[in-house]
Parts: sequence; C-alpha cells; structure tokens
Amino acid sequence: MRTILVINAGSSSLKFQLFDVESGAPRRAIRGQMDGIGVHPRLKATDGAGATLVDRAETAVLDLPSAVEATRAWFQTLGGARIDAIGHRVVHGGPDFDHPVLIDDAVLDRLDRLSPLAPLHQPNNLAPIRLAREINPDVPQVACFDTAFHRGHPAFADCYALPRALHDEGIRRYGFHGLSYEYIAHRLPEVAPKVAGGRVLAAHLGSGASMCAMRGGRGVECTMGFTALDGLPMGTRPGQLDPGVVLHLIEEKGMTAAEVTRLLYHEAGLKGLSGISNDVRVLLASDDPAAALALDHFAWRCGLHAGGLAAALGGLDAFVFTAGIGENSPAVRARVAERLAWLGAELDPDANAAGATVISTPASRVTLLVIPTDEELMIARHTLALIGTAA
Ligand code: AMP
Repeated sequence: MRTILVINAGSSSLKFQLFDVESGAPRRAIRGQMDGIGVHPRLKATDGAGATLVDRAETAVLDLPSAVEATRAWFQTLGGARIDAIGHRVVHGGPDFDHPVLIDDAVLDRLDRLSPLAPLHQPNNLAPIRLAREINPDVPQVACFDTAFHRGHPAFADCYALPRALHDEGIRRYGFHGLSYEYIAHRLPEVAPKVAGGRVLAAHLGSGASMCAMRGGRGVECTMGFTALDGLPMGTRPGQLDPGVVLHLIEEKGMTAAEVTRLLYHEAGLKGLSGISNDVRVLLASDDPAAALALDHFAWRCGLHAGGLAAALGGLDAFVFTAGIGENSPAVRARVAERLAWLGAELDPDANAAGATVISTPASRVTLLVIPTDEELMIARHTLALIGTAA
C-alpha cells in the first residue's frame, strides 16, 4: 500500500493520520494522537472506520522526540504500510511561502529562521521533520503552512500602522487556520456552487477561532494577524485586546513576559471570562450567569468581526461555520446568525437543529452553511501533489 503520513505536532500533543494513496486520491486509513506529552502521555489511534487500534498510557514519553519515537515504534508493529511521503502542518510560512513546499536543507533553514515569529509552535512543528530526516532521509517531506492561504491579501491589509522598519523585520499580519480555509474554499463549489465564487466569510470556530473573508475562493482578510492571539475570543485566548492592557500588566502589575504569555494563551478567553470552562458544551449547559456572559461576548465579537470582514468584501453572499463549535453547536450558530441578520441572513431553525449543510431559508440573502473542515486531508492532497511533481 502507498501511504502518506500527515503530522501535526504541538507542544503537548502529536497528531498523526495515515492516508492510503494507492488509488490516487487520499483515503484516511489511520487517525491518532499522542496526548499529554510530559504529563500523562497516552497513545490513541483508530482505523478509517473508527475502530480502536490502540488506546494506552505511555510511560516514557517526556517530550516531542520521545513521542515521535514511541509513535513510530507502534507504527512498526502494524507492518505493511510503506510511507511514501510525510506532510507536516507548519504554523508559519512567513511573508513568502504562499504554497506548500518540499523540504530540503534550505527550506528547513528558512523555516527555522521564522521560529521567533511563532516560538510556541514553530519549533514543535519542525522537530519531527528533523527526526524523520535523520531516521529516513529518503522519504520526501512537505511543509504545509497555516499562513499560506492568506498571502494574497493586499499589502495595505497586512501591515500594522507601525514604523516601516518593524514591518520589514516581520511584524505584520499573517493570518492563520489557512489549511482549514483552503479546504473550505475547495469544498464550496461542491456544496454551494452558486455562491462559491462570491463573497464568502468562513468562521473556523474551535478551541482556536478565527474568520476569513474570501472572494472567488481566495483569502482577502483574516481576523488573526501577527499571532494566533488576535481576532475572535477563543477557548483560552482573549482575541483582540487593547495593547495597553499588556503594557498595564507588565508595568503596573509587574508581570513577566512568561506570565503574560501564559495568561493570554491559556487563562483568558471563554475560560477566563466565565471562570468555568473553555468548552462551549459546558458553558451552554451551565445556568451560571458568568457562562451566559462568556457566550454573549463570543457571539457579540463574532458579529463585530463579521461586520468588519463583510465591509472588506463589500457585502456577503455566504457564511460558513466550521470546526468544533461551528460544526457541532446549533445554539452558537443561531446566535451568530442573529448578528448577521442586518446583512440579510435568515436562519432555518430546523435545518440548523438537524445540522444540515445549508441552514438558511430559501429567501435568505446570505447562504448559511455548515462545512466540516479537514486540514489533514488538505495536507495529504498537497503532499501527494508535490511528490507527484518531484517524481
Ligand atoms: P476544535 O478545536 O475544532 O477541535 O474544537 C474544540 C471545541 O469545540 C471544544 O472546546 C468545544 O468548545 C467545541 N465543541 C465540540 N463539540 C461541541 C458541541 N456539540 N457543542 C458545542 N461546542 C462543541
């Protein structure tokens, strides 16, 4: 069997999927992850039909390299599958990478130099690439970037109003969740051909959340900017924040950079505001007013950002919900849709409750859609395309 391995490596988890590419179109064969690296490591994997292949605690997985090694050892027990190429999710492609690339020494060096722009993510994304090159230098590897989809923005959209020298050092807007948006852009002509080429807002609402404005299937603007902290409130990140708050935390409260980082990445957002949970399911089930406040804030900010992005597009033909919250929560979709009513969006409550693909009424001026995202499939497709051209 010819296969492509897709790797998405973070600080505490190593996610992997194996795609069978024998037929030419990637077909998911294994989906798994090593969670709780360094704390309570656990290896889980299912096959293409969802049946459990492994679910066990791991004792000696203290860091990402040992997670890669333990996962590789488990893979070898399966036998059979030859890995033809590895596709990696890489958070940062900087200002230049506007499409996936085959990794060689020069590319790896350039990606390394982008690490200061995403210090929490980029080194973790690159570590498995290096390990795989050491273990098996003949297997081609492809880097697929979260930023690449956004590289077609106009220059005036991607700068901050800061001295130009800072922009030239890389302090500018990049946008993220690009693989998710690219997948949505590919699916749109299949599920909604009438609006696919038009003015579309895609909302990736998961534990990380952002929105992307697209025209003709290409990114125009995104709520995330220099880092994945900007834009919408998220599970544990605040979203858009007056930079004066950060100065206050440092200057008046004496917080260190590490403490502010921890606050902004792990203690803020729905979790910080509610004081209850970062999980929308828990907040929806709670009768605590703090849970309601957090959800009201989320819907409010979604509406505000959607308004700004609709302005960027000069109107709106379709709005797509995706990711954990967007795909699974009729309640949140209804609340966000309410905030789009001024643009002519009209929700069909039954279709919404049923989780249909089109959840707007026939009379709605904005087509409301639910499209499950699939970043890993996008990576597998890119990887296959690139090794195809390299062969
Ligand atoms: P993701 O990062 O895309 O995997 O999304 C994870 C988030 O989706 C979780 O933290 C939950 O807040 C949210 N989520 C998942 N399932 C549901 C659901 N049925 N209803 C509401 N929110 C959900």
